[in-house]
Amino acid sequence: MIPYGRQSVSADDIAAVVAALESDWLTCGPRVEEFEQRFAEFVRAEHAVAVNSGTAALHLAMLAAGIGPGDHVITSPNTFLASANAAAFVGATPDFCDIDRLSYTLCPDSLRKCWRPETRAVVAVDYAGHPSQVSEIAEFAHSQNAIVIEDACHSIGGVLHSGKEVVHIGGNNWADMTTFSFHPVKSMTTGEGGMLTTNNPEFAQRARTFRSHGMIRQPELFTGLAGNAFPEQGPWYYEMQELGYNYRITDLQCALGISQLQRLPRFLERRREIVQRYHAAFQTLPHLTPPAVRAGVDPEQIAWHLYTVLIDFQAIGKTRTDVMSALRERGVATQVLYIPVYLQPWYAKTYGYKPGKCPNAEWYYERALSLPLFPAMTDEDVETVIQSVKEVLPGGGA
Ligand SMILES: *Cc1c(COP(=O)(O)O)cnc(C)c1O
Repeated sequence: MIPYGRQSVSADDIAAVVAALESDWLTCGPRVEEFEQRFAEFVRAEHAVAVNSGTAALHLAMLAAGIGPGDHVITSPNTFLASANAAAFVGATPDFCDIDRLSYTLCPDSLRKCWRPETRAVVAVDYAGHPSQVSEIAEFAHSQNAIVIEDACHSIGGVLHSGKEVVHIGGNNWADMTTFSFHPVKSMTTGEGGMLTTNNPEFAQRARTFRSHGMIRQPELFTGLAGNAFPEQGPWYYEMQELGYNYRITDLQCALGISQLQRLPRFLERRREIVQRYHAAFQTLPHLTPPAVRAGVDPEQIAWHLYTVLIDFQAIGKTRTDVMSALRERGVATQVLYIPVYLQPWYAKTYGYKPGKCPNAEWYYERALSLPLFPAMTDEDVETVIQSVKEVLPGGGA
């Protein structure tokens, strides 16, 4: 069975993890710092804070920005739950504006319509690796004194475009903070893991503090214990000034991350090759819409994470379940990403969100199917996927 996504772990990756296991540091050691430094360099960010999941990175972004009760946060409904949940974690209200029908990312016009005076942050999700319209979103959000968090869990190693300006995802000033995930289905992995990048030193400092219980060890930041009790502040001394968490990542995971980061450019190249083959094969297939690229975005620089096609199931007279099982019989696993988040029972129950809220996201969800895409796919695997899709859909000539 060809899965829809899969990690690539090499002998070098394994050796790196073994070396970490044999070292003095299993966690909070030199590999965490090295991974942060290398990742920051890779995405051209001033600061990188490594954490134990992409979800933790999103939560820390909310905490670092001081988002809380009474605040309103807008994200895309076409995302994994965590992009919206992070706002709820801090007591803010997660809300959703619609996506566009081309890149399936957050639509800036819809964002302006959904805006409220209490909107403090936008979480822009680079669905499938296609960059969001971050410069346009940022121009508006910043004019309203709100911040932009780019959820780049799908777009590690990609770039953003605005006119002639091209900047790295994770290392630009349109997004105030950018979050990444290293879950095994993502473009590089640490098992579980994540990263927050920013050019803002204050956000980086706050994220680091919240990552480990809100504990502070820098003497210049100490304010003293309650009632100035025990004023001696020796080498053991620390303070907790905020309510933080344990979102630390281990040196074992960072060893894998450092090794995977070196392989990432080749991973991305292979992903692009596979996407090109799919494009060539599916461009003229009736009832199927391959992923499109927004004008002004360079297709050669997209860090494709998913290859999601839209299929007009009504027109072909088959359900999505039928198509998925027919593909499965041919050895091809597929996935559906994503159910509009606001339709989830908890969101409906908690915020009263109803069907019809984001018509494009619902239109998209009815049709979406993600085909296998991962760097270890062989040319033969790619051909199997193409032939299977052509056999299962009418008009494929197979
Ligand atoms: C995977 C993912 C997350 C969450 O990352 P974890 O590492 O699984 O916590 C958040 N947002 C998007 C868009 C994702 O794909």
